[in-house]
Amino acid sequence: MKQFNTGQIDQLKSLLGPNQFSTGESNRRLHLHDISPHQGELPAGVAWPRTTEEVASLLAYTYGENIPVTPWGAGTSTEGNPVPSRGGLVVDLTQMDCIIDLRPRDLQVDVQPGVFRKALNRECGRHGLFFPPDPGADATIGGMIANNASGVQTVKYGATKDYVMRLTVVLPHGETIHTGCKAPKSSSGYDLTRLFVGSEGTLGIVTETTLRLAGIPVHHLAATITFNQLEAASEAVAVMMGSGLEPAALELLTPGLIRLMNQEKALGLPETPSLFCEFHGISAATLEETADLAEELCRDCGATGFSFGVTEVDRKELWRARHEAWETIHRAHPKKETLIVDAAVPISSYPQMVIFSQEQVDAHDAVGYVFGHAGDGNLHVVLVGDPKDREEWRHLEAINEAIVSRAIEKGGTCTGEHGIGIGKRKYMRQEHGSSYDLMKQIKDLLDPKGLMNPGKLF
Ligand SMILES: Cc1cc2nc3c(=O)[nH]c(=O)nc-3n(C[C@H](O)[C@H](O)[C@H](O)COP(=O)(O)OP(=O)(O)OC[C@H]3O[C@@H](n4cnc5c(N)ncnc54)[C@H](O)[C@@H]3O)c2cc1C
Repeated sequence: MKQFNTGQIDQLKSLLGPNQFSTGESNRRLHLHDISPHQGELPAGVAWPRTTEEVASLLAYTYGENIPVTPWGAGTSTEGNPVPSRGGLVVDLTQMDCIIDLRPRDLQVDVQPGVFRKALNRECGRHGLFFPPDPGADATIGGMIANNASGVQTVKYGATKDYVMRLTVVLPHGETIHTGCKAPKSSSGYDLTRLFVGSEGTLGIVTETTLRLAGIPVHHLAATITFNQLEAASEAVAVMMGSGLEPAALELLTPGLIRLMNQEKALGLPETPSLFCEFHGISAATLEETADLAEELCRDCGATGFSFGVTEVDRKELWRARHEAWETIHRAHPKKETLIVDAAVPISSYPQMVIFSQEQVDAHDAVGYVFGHAGDGNLHVVLVGDPKDREEWRHLEAINEAIVSRAIEKGGTCTGEHGIGIGKRKYMRQEHGSSYDLMKQIKDLLDPKGLMNPGKLF
């Protein structure tokens, strides 16, 4: 749906306060792309509701009028997840940005979905608490829930799904439901909260949530470990994970990416296969013991350098550089787009996957940077090219396809954290077999007209 008629515009305006609805072209264009090259259809309008009631009346109206609806957080997805593929109405949740109730003694917080992760952590930090899932980008809580986002600390702290206790969700026809409870555990009925986490806005709009929080660790220790061979670095990942050392972050980087980081940020890191890791503990003494053991294990795997005890400033710089890897790649290849591989496999298969992925990049003579949240078995390859150059882009897609197929063969997944969106729909049948049909039945039950974020997952 490309345009609303005057009656629809008047009606949509009447459901919201002033300045909460726009059909202006610049606003519509701002809600057409995430960071991927996936194309959508320009939405007919954008709404910025502030309350659950406003979302409910919007969806009751759009459902009656058969208007497609796409929820929108910060638009930082990588697979076209919030791209409006059939135009219609984009519901931008960023004005629902209240931290409603922070309960430090329960380690819980109630928030609206448009609260940004960094803003939430600033507030929680005053109480010595934090919300651990960290996708790097400053995403909204609603977008993180919808994508089940995770990041560098997931290896110790888990993904977004591990922190969502309760949800208020407005279903596609406008009914509001509440899932979950505030008790730390429950075995009561179907876990509807988990059904909505990771559903990418295809089943309804999250308008409120209760999140679990964690205590900010008092002591950290960051280390960089270098190897001559990629095989050795990725083997060390499996060994560290099996050792009970419980790293809080365990990231693999390959020389090409480190070179770009050095060029941009003058980090002076050795340009060899490397692990960036971090440990959290209750005292400096326990962390030193942990680091000694980690060094011993890595040296047994062939590590050539082990540098720990980096200063707080260097530690922050190191993680900032890692978080900005995608931006660094983009800045090094201006005017190019990226196709991001996000496969995940069991830890024992990780070393083979890393080698296989690098071989794929080399065999296609492509520009691609292999790295990943190694401790989670999550492998990224950022492939660089121009989607308009069909021949070049076909090679990048072939690399993605080969890596995903290998990951699925190994019992893994096509996406460890970015979600399916538009880009990974083609792998759903291969990964899920007949349970993909059950997912579709659930979608049809909740959204029989197929209006909620159409063209995603299915
Ligand atoms: C540089 C960079 C690095 C990244 N690294 C990581 C990473 O390490 N790990 C990771 O997991 N992700 C990563 N991402 C991807 C992205 O940041 C996350 O997926 C994030 O959770 C998206 O949140 P958002 O607020 O931008 O949501 P959007 O992109 O706006 O939306 C995401 C999905 O959520 C839906 N949605 C939004 N709000 C709601 C709501 N209230 N109710 C229902 N559905 C809703 C949308 O329709 C869409 O399907 C990265 C992105 C960038 C740009």
